[in-house]
Amino acid sequence: MSLAREMLSMNPMALPKGTKKVCEICDEPATIIFRECFYYCSQECQHLDYDEGVHDEIREHVEFVRNNTQKLGTQFERQKREQDKFKAKQQIISLASVRASSLSHSGLHHHAIAAATHALKFGIQVHGATSIDLVPMILLLGSANIGINKLNKAETYLSQANYLVSMNPDCGSDLKSKLYRTLGQLYHAKGQAPTSLRFLADDIYYCSLAHGPKDIRSAGGYFLMANIFQATEFVAKTKALYQMVSSIWREQLSRIGGIETEYEKWDKDALASFLEAVNQVMVEYVPAEGPPPLNAAETAEAQQHLDAILTLESADTQNVAIVVRTLATIALLHAILGEHDKAKAFWVNAQKGLEHS
Ligand SMILES: [Zn+2]
Repeated sequence: MSLAREMLSMNPMALPKGTKKVCEICDEPATIIFRECFYYCSQECQHLDYDEGVHDEIREHVEFVRNNTQKLGTQFERQKREQDKFKAKQQIISLASVRASSLSHSGLHHHAIAAATHALKFGIQVHGATSIDLVPMILLLGSANIGINKLNKAETYLSQANYLVSMNPDCGSDLKSKLYRTLGQLYHAKGQAPTSLRFLADDIYYCSLAHGPKDIRSAGGYFLMANIFQATEFVAKTKALYQMVSSIWREQLSRIGGIETEYEKWDKDALASFLEAVNQVMVEYVPAEGPPPLNAAETAEAQQHLDAILTLESADTQNVAIVVRTLATIALLHAILGEHDKAKAFWVNAQKGLEHS
């Protein structure tokens, strides 16, 4: 069926009294019903949800929740239905959150807002409107609004998240790290570098407590801190932090690919050996059964970080070795994702760089 046929216009006034349908994304009165159970105020909101958005991933679960409203059946049947709906809602929250984060790392902030809005709406249904479990979803909305420079709106979300964290003294280090990272982003966008750096230092501290300083979840704090130093023209600090980020991803990707990549010194022999190991992954790597080693958000974040590092280092002709190493790390990422043509293209460039170094 074509998309146009799956989309019907509706008149809000024609709905039975007491029923009000609002847009999935912006809460304005709905004028479009799509695939029988999604509501939008406009084609613009529908496209934010559908193109590049999370719609297809969560569709089946949303339909299940919304189409199972009957109260009939035995007590056992009703309980089973409620349990299944609860699981479907948790699936929606998880899928929409990962998607929102991935879209933000790829710079698609408007679409990220649509995905995070679904996560938060179903999050409220599952956890209640004042639960600390909503904080990650609220932070995703804050971060995406920073991405489109809606700083007042972002600040409102961050105040909410900050309030929920401060009301829960037992709040874990991972959540505190996420809060401080997003506050760091906000103050960077506001041009307040010192405040931003203090929040990011807190982020790195709590993330290291929760996961260790060389975990991929800690890379984002170093990366944002590097960008602030870049904006304030402390390029040496930026490069030092970028190398930290780069080594975190290189080690994680190497573990996934089953190769050794730590060398005493990154001289020409070490680079040649790393390139050979990456080539081995490109030829032999077969993903294990089960969930992928990196989810969509982690993949998009790795790509964002490594692209920025490559751009900065490529501008400096003195740093051929770092450029070669970064190109090979990007090849390794694509090899693990099964993107053989892309992996090969980056690997060939790394090899050319090595020959000319
Ligand atoms: Zn709307």
